[in-house]
Amino acid sequence: MAGGTRVSSAAPAAGSAEVIDGRAVAAAVRERVRRKVTALRAERGIEPGLATVLVGDDPGSEIYVRRKREACAEAGIRSFHHPLPAPTPAIELAALLDALNDDRAVHGILLQLPLPAGLDAAAMTRRIDPAKDVDGLHPLNAGLLAQGAVDAVVPCTPAGVMELLGAAGAELAGAPAVVIGRSTLVGRPLASLLLGADATVTHCHSRTRDLAAVCRDAEVVVAAAGVPRLVTADMVSPGATVIDVGTNRTDAGLTGDVDFDGVRRVARAITPVPGGVGPMTIAMLLDNTVRLARRASNGE
Ligand code: NAD
Repeated sequence: MAGGTRVSSAAPAAGSAEVIDGRAVAAAVRERVRRKVTALRAERGIEPGLATVLVGDDPGSEIYVRRKREACAEAGIRSFHHPLPAPTPAIELAALLDALNDDRAVHGILLQLPLPAGLDAAAMTRRIDPAKDVDGLHPLNAGLLAQGAVDAVVPCTPAGVMELLGAAGAELAGAPAVVIGRSTLVGRPLASLLLGADATVTHCHSRTRDLAAVCRDAEVVVAAAGVPRLVTADMVSPGATVIDVGTNRTDAGLTGDVDFDGVRRVARAITPVPGGVGPMTIAMLLDNTVRLARRASNGE
């Protein structure tokens, strides 16, 4: 991790948190990935490859997949795109995933979610070889992460949050940390990662009785609820580090789960939306792809 170097360069004014620059941290990760790709090619003759599978023509998903493929090209990772129409029968998608599982040029398989109605995302995720599960969503990898195993493939967004916490110099060992949200994509793996970093984790969700009180006791707050401005200044203790995973499209534009203007007056460090967690997700996808390629070449 980057160790306290990727916050905005301007010294924060009194009562104004340092803004953690996700674009800068992501650029550093992507540079690190580029170096690993060069080394893999030079030392082992391996070209990391990512297969992207997109079912249907959801415009948002098309943009996400295109950005991921562009990032691969920039990092020197081969990408193999497989667009399928909607509706696609489950048996056809399963057959494609099986073929990609067997393809030695493919080290990571990204099945863009959500899938169109009629396709079972959990079943299709389980169809992916855990050794190629670049999103870390297969139950085997989720289980390994829950057990604290170092060889788990870690989902990209939570992995990016941990990089940002490292870059912000957040002290995690022993620290009270709150995760808001319990999805398999973000909240649950994040709670496991923070626990693995020796934080004292409280896991909140939509049924939590007094979210404000729990947050006020925390030194680290990570919001991943998908509720605009859920976390307000009165819920944050002075000096806390606040990471906003939320990406909410509102009439006022893209907004996170944190009231940025209010909370930055109280917190020590905070991520903006956009420009915080968002850029990290693709960077960590590249990192995971290279990791899986290296593992495959080790015969692990
Ligand atoms: P989700 O809908 O699957 O889960 C949301 C979680 O938040 C649930 O566990 C729910 O219990 C909890 N929650 C809902 N309302 C709450 C409330 N009022 N108080 C406390 N908890 C509450 O969502 P997700 O996939 O985990 O995504 C969460 C947010 O993060 C969304 O805004 C999503 O767009 C965003 N996201 C961003 C990125 C990125 O790359 N920046 C990646 C993934 C998700």
